[in-house]
Amino acid sequence: MRNVLVVISGPSGVGKGTLARMLLAEDDGLAGSVSCTTRAPRPGEANGREYFFISEHEFRDRIAANDFLEYDEHFGNFYGTPRSFVERQLKRKSVLLEIDVVGGLNAKRLMPACTVLIMVTPPSMQELERRLAGRGSEGEEALHERMRRVRYELDQAPLYDYVVVNDDLQRAKREIQDIIRKEKEKKI
Ligand code: ADP
Ligand code: 5GP
Repeated sequence: MRNVLVVISGPSGVGKGTLARMLLAEDDGLAGSVSCTTRAPRPGEANGREYFFISEHEFRDRIAANDFLEYDEHFGNFYGTPRSFVERQLKRKSVLLEIDVVGGLNAKRLMPACTVLIMVTPPSMQELERRLAGRGSEGEEALHERMRRVRYELDQAPLYDYVVVNDDLQRAKREIQDIIRKEKEKKI
């Protein structure tokens, strides 16, 4: 069995975070990576758990030091995957990244053999809007900005290895677990 870098992408509100938490809780062989971001923490988020919340100044210093495997800017904030953590973990486990499509495609370019790209899509646009609004983490303006980006994210689906519809949470989780199992068993 080999270790793989599993990337979960998809539009904001589709359920990536919820699925990632379930996958990590059920699989000791899977390590979650905590990204760095310059955005402010949302209520309930803790430094080092959802993200490492750092200043833009520190983020730029770390870009210069080549500390990020990949990074990207969304909604005026930077987000990046810590390189050393991922490289260290991959020696003993598979690693799960919950990042956007640009980041996912960059990861695949950097580590083509071991990266598995999974796009999570909503059963419908109405349902996506309902989930995003229901989460209640964004103001009206930020919510609209996120909805505008949805089309872009979904249009990249053909570049991904797998597309999983998050209709029923348990079903979607099992589908992703099957994909990971199959990919780990592949002989490259
Ligand atoms: P993301 O990380 O993709 O932005 P979240 O995991 O925060 O999305 O999920 C957004 C909201 O949708 C949350 O309130 C979550 O509980 C809900 N949700 C996630 N998956 C489902 C599902 N399959 N059915 C119904 N609600 C869901
Ligand atoms: P949010 O602000 O909702 O937590 O995340 C906004 C977007 O940033 C999401 O699409 C999320 O997947 C993406 N994201 C989170 N961490 C990273 C990262 O390390 N790299 C990249 N490229 N995107 C990230």
